Amino acid sequence: MNDVPNHPIAARFAFENTYARELEGFYATWKATQVARPTLVQFNRALAEELGLDGGALDSEEGARIFAGNETPEGAMPLAQAYAGHQFGGFSRQLGDGRALLLGEVIDRNGRRRDIQLKGSGPTPFSRAGDGRAALGPVLREYLIGEAMYALGIPTTRALAAVLTGEPVYRETALPGAVLTRVAASHIRVGTFQFFAARGEPDKVRRLADYVIDRHYRELKDHANPYLGLMERVCDRQAALVASWMQVGFIHGVMNTDNMAISGETIDYGPCAFMDHYDPATVFSSIDTQGRYAYANQPGIAQWNLARLAETLVPLIDADEKRAIARATEVVNAFSEQYERHWLKGMRAKLGLTSEDEADLNLAQGFLTAIEGKKVDYTLAFRCLADAALGREEPIRALFADASAYDLWSGHWRARLAREAVAPLARAQTMRRANPAFIPRNHRVEEALSAAVERGDYTPFTTLLNVVSRPFDDQPEFAAFAQPPPEGQERYQTF
Ligand code: AMP
Ligand code: MG
Repeated sequence: MNDVPNHPIAARFAFENTYARELEGFYATWKATQVARPTLVQFNRALAEELGLDGGALDSEEGARIFAGNETPEGAMPLAQAYAGHQFGGFSRQLGDGRALLLGEVIDRNGRRRDIQLKGSGPTPFSRAGDGRAALGPVLREYLIGEAMYALGIPTTRALAAVLTGEPVYRETALPGAVLTRVAASHIRVGTFQFFAARGEPDKVRRLADYVIDRHYRELKDHANPYLGLMERVCDRQAALVASWMQVGFIHGVMNTDNMAISGETIDYGPCAFMDHYDPATVFSSIDTQGRYAYANQPGIAQWNLARLAETLVPLIDADEKRAIARATEVVNAFSEQYERHWLKGMRAKLGLTSEDEADLNLAQGFLTAIEGKKVDYTLAFRCLADAALGREEPIRALFADASAYDLWSGHWRARLAREAVAPLARAQTMRRANPAFIPRNHRVEEALSAAVERGDYTPFTTLLNVVSRPFDDQPEFAAFAQPPPEGQERYQTF
């Protein structure tokens, strides 16, 4: 492919940087901090090739230098993006990329524009009191969970590489420093809009909205009111996204407005985790003391965040402020119905239904009620439903100490299934594509991260990454990875 001899690797990124070129004033041009000893510890070759990069050439010392920020590839225009955000409900006028740099954009093999960003690459003008660094544990965590989400079919940023810097970062203790290379449809957040709205710069909000429409929502170009249309489309993608989180038991943990991507991808994996037994009040994050971002609150929080986005768009929607607010409010209010529609669609698939019936919402909620408060594992319960659809009831019934609530529910479910002319085997197979066997279980994630961080042993990490990259396959040799944590390890906390 590359016939230019002795040309630096850098030439192999075909950067095409629209954010840098079209949105001057929306970022600070910056450079990564040089680090002592870049070592590539994870590299996503399949993603590299999807991005049109030379995977073989980047899986190297030179690749490590690029992904550490020590070498700037040709064509990159490293910059820190400005954004604001509501954090746990309180507004911060200035957040921004305090430890991240956008290297640039590439067009992938499918013609999609993707951001390539370094996270943990040193302080920027937005760092405030932070050190601009990332520790190895959280870098590997973001790598693993993002890739698991991708394999589950959920829109998400991806991980291209993780490098060790060879320098410590200081948290409660000294930890190995690392940099994550992240790939995203874009890194524009609700908070990016808030940044300019809060400064009273509606012209910049408009430029950003136009840029977003051009980049993510082309279909709105001929819309009668593109900014209202933008609001509708962002709401719909968020409704679909959060519904898909709920369906796999994913808890983001910090749904601040700066952590909500306008593209509709899951972004910023911090204290996120997957629920084991079904409990709508589940919170894992140690900083979320009020449970604001608990599992069951996620749809409502998404809607709240979208209302903050709507506020920034009001001046663009209609010159008459009252009318603009009324129209924006209507769109935000419609989120609940959109969410329910996406949720129900996903639930039908999980329950093995191929047709629509008015009673399906009740049926789906009935299953959750049947497993609630009984320490029944969420993921296993749905996975076992595929067996139940084949008449094998033992696996699911064995999850309950007392299965009577399930038995009652399954009578209704069977009657509903009987009204569809679907062969049981085909149905069970389809259900297995909708109900993962493998999620990154918290105790496994901890095991994998501590082996890497404490002993430099990446074997458990690689094994877990491989297992969760095929979440719908049975993988009998890894059956243990489908199991919930051993007793006593359920009270999990993330930081
Ligand atoms: P987060 O909680 O990761 O979504 O980050 C919220 C804000 O804090 C963003 O503006 C980040 O860039 C910034 N931030 C987080 N960690 C650091 C750090 N170690 N150094 C500088 N800024 C940081
Ligand atoms: Mg963030």
